[in-house]
This record gives sequence, structure tokens and C-alpha cells, in this order.
Amino acid sequence: MTHHATTARRTRTAGAGGRPSDVSVLPNPPPGTRLADIRACLESAGAPDYRFRQLVRCLHHQRVEHFEDLRELPTALRRELTARFGPTVFPLKPVVIQSAEQVEKVLFEARSQTRARTRPGAGTRTVRAETVLSRYRAGWSSICVSSQAGCGLGCTFCATGAVGLVRNLTADEIYAQVVHPHWRADGAALPDSVAFMGMGEALANPHIFPALQLLTTPGYGGLSPRRITVSTVGFAPNLARLTREQPQITVTLSVHSPFPEQRAELIPLERRFPLAENLAVLDRHVVAVRRKVYLAYLLIDGVNDSDEHLRALARLVRARSRPELFHVSVIPYNTASGADPSYRAPAAETVSRFVAQLRALGVRATRRRQFGSSIDAACGQLHARYLASL
Ligand code: SF4
Repeated sequence: MTHHATTARRTRTAGAGGRPSDVSVLPNPPPGTRLADIRACLESAGAPDYRFRQLVRCLHHQRVEHFEDLRELPTALRRELTARFGPTVFPLKPVVIQSAEQVEKVLFEARSQTRARTRPGAGTRTVRAETVLSRYRAGWSSICVSSQAGCGLGCTFCATGAVGLVRNLTADEIYAQVVHPHWRADGAALPDSVAFMGMGEALANPHIFPALQLLTTPGYGGLSPRRITVSTVGFAPNLARLTREQPQITVTLSVHSPFPEQRAELIPLERRFPLAENLAVLDRHVVAVRRKVYLAYLLIDGVNDSDEHLRALARLVRARSRPELFHVSVIPYNTASGADPSYRAPAAETVSRFVAQLRALGVRATRRRQFGSSIDAACGQLHARYLASL
């Protein structure tokens, strides 16, 4: 351990967003991350400690995209970093930008992590992932990040599932989607909240844990864990790990059907980690932390919107350890490329009635607001153009 391994105790944090305004002592970045490699590189180049702090401060407060533009660092160090890591500070490059009212979707490209550079063409392959920024009228902004390029879990309502798994994103790639200078074009601050609801099953990717550490550590992302939501279709072992390691993070578990057989058709992972197992993890979690968790219910016309579904879902919630801490978010299905073509969006009245009836049965429920379906930026629609030929 080096003398860098200090605590953030002396960190001063700024008001509302809980973001660091000045960090004189910076905790080490998680091992294996690009920032940890950058720190090691500076150290081996003989640079004093404060150089790394300078670099991190520039990344989070200025709009720096290239090592070359880190004017506060001496030229020799900038050259060293460029030689070692390539010209850009972040491992992601925005390649396609689409906007609709209050929403911007960015297709990021990342170098593949293929190590076998000896193979022809290897090491130059790129992967793509999409990130969606929503700006609410009240001035609040929320970013929806991807955790994997594609996804291997094959949920039948989801465009990402139709892509298949290309690969897990690294912790740096996940982190870079939030802090990338692209979002700060007009001097905008970092987003106020982060949701892991983009491409991929976040909890199937172990890199999400160091990414969460970067996002929440003062001096780096500096976000309050309460402003981060991790959404999962139920990867139970890592759901248990998340609730243990990051108990303040908000969790959303996808239910989509209260009936195991039908749920397994919608979410094949049900066969490996049944809903009951995941709910048991959340039962323990809400008792321990007394924080609300969310159950997502994707409403598909004629598939899971019957009275039977409604009553079974209400029973499931009422059977929880602390039912008042389980909140059902009803999400109307969006037509998605590559999803089962028989699925249809429900009528607006069906959604309102479903929510109202859940409430009448004593369940806390709301309809989830979302934008962006016109640019395939809503839930379940992200496919990063891997499905462009469909
Ligand atoms: S819903 Fe999530 S877990 Fe299921 S296929 Fe889509 S991205 Fe993967």
C-alpha cells in the first residue's frame, strides 16, 4: 500500500448534489480501472501525487477530451499518457447523437478489450453502447447508462436481448458514459441521477461494482448512491451483493408477470434465478435499510394485463416483509426492434386502470414517465444499431 491510500475524510462536499467542490485528498481509484492505471503511470514517470489529483479535477470540472488538452500537466507527462493510453482520456467516443423533446441519445463506440493483438484485426474491433440523457422541465437531469454491449439474457420484449451479448462493458466504459465531456457541451453540470436501465443486465456484469464505486466516490463521480438506480431482471447472487455492498443504491426488480411459467417466457433468467429468490433478497434488504425498492411491471397488451394478473401481482406485493416499501412502477410496453412481433403497446386507459386497481388493492403503484420512444430511446428499445438490418 502506498501513501496514496488515504481516506476522503477531509473532502469538502458541495450542497444539493453532494458533489465535491474541492478534493484535497483523493481516494485511490478501484484497482484494474483505467484511472488506476493512469495513476500508476504518473507515479512511474516520477510525477508528484498532486498531478493525479489535478488530472482528476480537470476531468470532472472541465471539458477535457484529450490528454493533450490537460494544460495543467507538463508536456512530457501529457505525451507519456498519450503514448500509453491513446489520445483520449475516456475510452468512449460519441459517434451518433439523436435528440427528441427532452431526450438525447448517444451511441458511444469503445475499443474492444480483445487482448490477442497478434490475431489479424484483433484489438481494433469496436463495440457500441447507447446512453440516454433526459432533461426534466424542473431542471433535473437523469442519465440512463448501458452496462453491456448487447445482452445475453434474451428477454422476449427487448431489443437489446435480440442483439445477444457482445461483451460486458468495463468499469471505465460505464463510468465514462456519465462523466463524458460530451454532456457538458454548454457548460452543463454532470447529471443529477443515474439509472442502469440502458443496454444489458447490470448485475450480470461484475464490472458494475467498481463502476459504482467510481460514480459514488467524492472527487470522482461524487454522486449520492441514493441517486443511482440499478435495474435488474433478477440476477439474484449479484443482487444480494449489491444490497450488501451498496445498500443505499435504489433497486428496481423487473417482475412483468406474477406467474412463474409466463415470467420465464418473458424473462428466461426466471428458470435460473426465480422471482421468489430475488424477492427474498429484497425482503431482507428493505427490513435492513428501510428504503423503498421498485418492482417494474411492463404492461403488454393482452399478455399480462388481465384481472388475474392484477390480483396475483397485488397478492405478491402484499406477501412481502414490508409491503409498504415495495413500489410497483407500471411501464407501458414500447414496440422494440427484434422483440416478439406479437407484443403490442397497451392503450393509455388500460395503463391508468391497471395502476388505479393496484392502488385499490392496497399496493403502492405509479405509471413510469418516460420519453424518447420516437428515437428508440425508451425502455427495452436500445440496440445500438446492431439491429439496423432487421
Ligand atoms: S430486458 Fe435487460 S436483461 Fe432482458 S434482454 Fe433486455 S437488456 Fe437483457
